[in-house]
Amino acid sequence: MPGIVRHQTVAVDVGGMKVGGDHPIVVQSMTNTDTEDIASTVNQVQELWRAGSEIVRITVNTEKAAAAVPRIVDTLRAFGCDVPVVGDFHYNGHLLLRKYPACARALAKYRINPGNVNIGKKHDDNFRTMIEAAVEYGKPVRIGVNWGSLDSQLLTELMDENARRPEPKTANEVMHEAIVLSCLRSAEAAERYGLRRDQIILSAKVSGVQDLISIYRDLAARSTYPLHLGLTEAGLGMKGIVATTAALSVLLQEGIGDTIRCSLTPAPGGDRTEEVKVCQQILQSLGIRSFTPQVTACPGCGRTTSTFFQEMAADIQTYLREQMPVWKAQYPGVEELKVAVMGCIVNGPGESKHSHIGISLPGTFEEPVAPVYADGKLLKTLRGEGIVKEFIEILNDYVESHYAPAVRA
Ligand code: SF4
Repeated sequence: MPGIVRHQTVAVDVGGMKVGGDHPIVVQSMTNTDTEDIASTVNQVQELWRAGSEIVRITVNTEKAAAAVPRIVDTLRAFGCDVPVVGDFHYNGHLLLRKYPACARALAKYRINPGNVNIGKKHDDNFRTMIEAAVEYGKPVRIGVNWGSLDSQLLTELMDENARRPEPKTANEVMHEAIVLSCLRSAEAAERYGLRRDQIILSAKVSGVQDLISIYRDLAARSTYPLHLGLTEAGLGMKGIVATTAALSVLLQEGIGDTIRCSLTPAPGGDRTEEVKVCQQILQSLGIRSFTPQVTACPGCGRTTSTFFQEMAADIQTYLREQMPVWKAQYPGVEELKVAVMGCIVNGPGESKHSHIGISLPGTFEEPVAPVYADGKLLKTLRGEGIVKEFIEILNDYVESHYAPAVRA
């Protein structure tokens, strides 16, 4: 990660996936199926896993859902899907983890929300019960604070304290402090009840970009627990993607964050895997991790008379993504490949030369030919109807010749 100094955290093992320390930043996601519906949940976990989610969280909200968890995990393993499955608990996690030990055993991690598990209220028995289950089954937990369900007693305590100050802080500053303190105090309590430091991950999710950045900076400065980043309730479509990218990019660039999730609201009937692709794209755009070859394409302008090059760029990106399940195993390092698809001679040859392989399509009034560049040199000039097909063939040859492992004699 050139230019990025990672905030030092301890590494936590989540069902074989390491989060924190010097380990790569982990992409995770969450299902939106009813966990009681085993078939739908298994299908969606697999979809998210195939898209690249390295940890998948499912809600465990009812007795039937808790009873379904071991069957979901067994079915996934039978299908060859080894993704760690995390249980998301609210309100009744202490009851479910005790009553359904097979559920407690099958999950790779428990998410505990200190705002709704009784900690900070009259007693913290429910929180303690969940931590003791984690200790007994050797599972890590994520202490996941969310400002939508913040520990109200803690917030009141800090507000009262603030009111007595000669120069009170703003309500927003007190809220930030309450969120951070809720994380830190809960983590301390979890250690007091027997969990090791390397079994605790923290998150402090809010829905405002500036709030999120400020809170995570503070959390990173005050702890060494691995941090799960995510803008909660990011929203629909472009708004959710842009807001998440804006918030996470600032923090990741500062070395803060060990695992990320993009909480997009999918369009009705939309593709849940979009949240995984957004996380991957954030990490790849920042040069932190590579997941799939990238296509550089110009935006087009008055020099292009058709949408041909836009369609070609989209076709090539789709083709590359579709090849990745096979290419990843066959061609190590291919995820670093950079491909350019450009609209005309102005920036086409230059951008193509900066990529591993690129094509510069003819703009308006240009000769109808498309030079292809590989490793900065003109390789071939394409013309006629079959440009896309021929370019894909060239691409395949390039991948084979540059990424196939050398065969040892
Ligand atoms: S490369 Fe050519 S077609 Fe693309 S934006 Fe630049 S000038 Fe326009």
